[in-house]
Amino acid sequence: MITEDTIVSMSEEIKTFCVRLFPRSWSVTHTSFEIAELEMNRNKIVFGKAHHCGKIQISNIYVGTDCYSALKSTLIHEFSHLIVGLKENHNSRFKRIFEYLSDKAEMDTAAILKDHDVLRGKANAIKPCTLQLWMVFQNGDTEFVGNYQKRSKKYTAYDPSVRNLQYKGKLIDRFYYTESPTNDSSQSIQQ
Ligand SMILES: [Zn+2]
Repeated sequence: MITEDTIVSMSEEIKTFCVRLFPRSWSVTHTSFEIAELEMNRNKIVFGKAHHCGKIQISNIYVGTDCYSALKSTLIHEFSHLIVGLKENHNSRFKRIFEYLSDKAEMDTAAILKDHDVLRGKANAIKPCTLQLWMVFQNGDTEFVGNYQKRSKKYTAYDPSVRNLQYKGKLIDRFYYTESPTNDSSQSIQQ
């Protein structure tokens, strides 16, 4: 079973592996590593994030699972971001490096996909209901605020005559929540 220690030791192992295959200057120098609670709901699971400062974050969703293949793949993915540079995003250059490293690491695509199913199931079990918060401006425009796990009185009881909030210079008239679509196929994976 994967523990925080497993994630840390595997990250060191993958870093060494990446440095061996790409010994010359990386676009972003790796600085630090962190296990974090990353975004996770019905619509989106973030397994990892690479930052401009060289920090790599890995989602704590891996802890307690046996999703070794997916974890390894996420680590290769994040280190590929540092090698090619974050502004390259997921372009063809990024994909070439990622696929090259995955190939050298003998990654098993079927095993990764199976792990992703397990992780999706875990994400849905932990946070079964996600709400979307919207704001309506006095001019009638509506804008998405963000995803939330529960309703807050701050928004449901919002009264513009008591406290008038503004966003980008527009006065907010009211807030409302909608429930996330329950269709799991809409769920995307980001790393
Ligand atoms: Zn990515």
